[in-house]
Amino acid sequence: MSEHSHHHDRPALTRNQGLVFAALERADAPLSAYTILDRLRGEGLKAPLQVYRALDKLVAYGMVHRLESLNAFVPCRQDDCDAHETAAFMICETCGKVAEFADETLTERLEAVTRASGFTLHRTTIELRGICAACGAAQ
Ligand SMILES: [Zn+2]
Ligand SMILES: [Zn+2]
Repeated sequence: MSEHSHHHDRPALTRNQGLVFAALERADAPLSAYTILDRLRGEGLKAPLQVYRALDKLVAYGMVHRLESLNAFVPCRQDDCDAHETAAFMICETCGKVAEFADETLTERLEAVTRASGFTLHRTTIELRGICAACGAAQ
């Protein structure tokens, strides 16, 4: 992943939020709250609640996404992710890696379909399961 400066309006993080975000950025696959806690015990984090509180804020800031199907968290890899309400992820079932992507056509279609049903859409998380290119090539 490149280290270019997305999240230019990143808010000031508390120590715990910074530790949790760094743990997610170091990982090459989504992490559960308990895995994050295990990795940060050496940093003085002891209670799951400390990790959950930090994750809640990081998700609210748009810096981290929660993957419902895995009950795990990934750092946002998109420029201006808060600008679009649709976050989409390709989840490899072999290596566990997750790739985030945006597709305007997809977002527009979801908005059109929900609007036609009189449904007010707030947020969409799309989780696609399959095999990534690297794992597919290795088979
Ligand atoms: Zn994102
Ligand atoms: Zn893979």
